[in-house]
Amino acid sequence: MKRTKIIATLGPASDSSVKIRELIQAGMDVARINMSHTQSKEYLSKLVKNIRTEARKSNRSVSVLMDLAGPKLRVKRFSTDKSIYIKEGKTYSIGYKNADIPIDVNLKFKSIEEGASVKIDDGNISFSVIEHQNNILKLIAKNSGKITSGKGVNFPGITLNIPAVTEKDLSDLEIALDLEVDWIAMSFVRNVEDSNPIIDVFKKKSKSIPMIAKIEKPEALENLSIIVDHFDGILVARGDLGVEMPLQELPILQKKIVNRCLKKRKPVIIATQMLETMIENPTPTRAEVNDVANAIYDGADAVMLSGETAVGKYPIETLNIMSAITKSVEKDFDQSNFNRNIQIKKSGNIDNRQSIAHAVYTLANDMNINHIVIMTESGETAKQMALFRPDAIIYALCPNWNVCRELNLIWGIIPVLVDECNSTDQMLNYSSSILKELKFLKDGDIYILTAGVPVGVSGTTNMLKIHEA
Ligand code: PGA
Ligand code: MN
Repeated sequence: MKRTKIIATLGPASDSSVKIRELIQAGMDVARINMSHTQSKEYLSKLVKNIRTEARKSNRSVSVLMDLAGPKLRVKRFSTDKSIYIKEGKTYSIGYKNADIPIDVNLKFKSIEEGASVKIDDGNISFSVIEHQNNILKLIAKNSGKITSGKGVNFPGITLNIPAVTEKDLSDLEIALDLEVDWIAMSFVRNVEDSNPIIDVFKKKSKSIPMIAKIEKPEALENLSIIVDHFDGILVARGDLGVEMPLQELPILQKKIVNRCLKKRKPVIIATQMLETMIENPTPTRAEVNDVANAIYDGADAVMLSGETAVGKYPIETLNIMSAITKSVEKDFDQSNFNRNIQIKKSGNIDNRQSIAHAVYTLANDMNINHIVIMTESGETAKQMALFRPDAIIYALCPNWNVCRELNLIWGIIPVLVDECNSTDQMLNYSSSILKELKFLKDGDIYILTAGVPVGVSGTTNMLKIHEA
């Protein structure tokens, strides 16, 4: 049973029902929809419906993660197919209007740090800033290359007057709420206030979706601690982060972010270029295999695929390989090589859920019990349990399908949709029969069950029982 979850981005290579089914069978736990590419509401509703239908057919709770594009700046679409050829050492201007390199948003460059640069096409072409005129920058090219329209532009070291949430994000958010997607991700988060426009929409609609902050800006690293506290999950967005920050710092930042999340008990995802060469090739490089493995050893909740599954030639093969690496590495988990930055001791004020989870963790270890069953309404106790990263498998038995889907992104949790129970006795019999029916347990298996009594009330987790199936 795989513990680390796999997020696969869906796109032209993988958005049909057949491919979605194959991806689920190959181990996709979360389907990511990348809103950087404009997609109609019709397309999105059909896609989400297909994901859910295929998940149901496979008896799985696949989550849907809508990744909002955020203020990604791009080279303006040219009217013709022409490209801009850049020569090292020559000077260029960049800006919305009357510039050699036109961009798609009218930016004001507020403040410019020493050594600030402009990077185009994931940093393939970079420039130093030599002059600053309100909404135009004069640049000197550090290398030669070709710029085509629509390529991403980053401004490391330059403060820009752009909103964190764009008009497009807000209209995509409406669709996300209508379709009841399970998670949303915010791109280019700089601080906790960046999520205010989204929270306002939630308030207005009296509905909400758990929010993931993508860490891909230097400002986000400065505010990491409060961002981790504020959001429901964190994504290490190595693509843009590696453009905004010196590449050699990425490994350090990855460890720092993961450890912070484990300490603060927040889900964390490692993303981008994990098996990049599989976009074109049926097998990955050895370095890529090790990168995926190390993210798993670090203790990430989930590892993510982007272009590999969205536009690659081998989406299913990529998933199979990622699942195989996951299963293989997880057999090697022990105190010495698996990130035990995990908080297993009492720290500060812990609530009833954390206390019960701590007790279950200790009991399962002491008694060599391999199965933990969490009866949960809101999913919260299951999340707290997962944060101990126990050796035992965690089954979250939940009467709410939305919660089951949300939980599928979290490390080690197998969500199971169940009927409401009325009594403790019923819960014990029912949990045992449903888990046997699904072949997770067999007669005589011992498990620990936690629940809140009286049953059916969220937040009451207050009992645990060692039980025989
Ligand atoms: P993106 O985010 O794929 O939406 O750019 C991930 C990253 O920047 O790594
Ligand atoms: Mn990004």
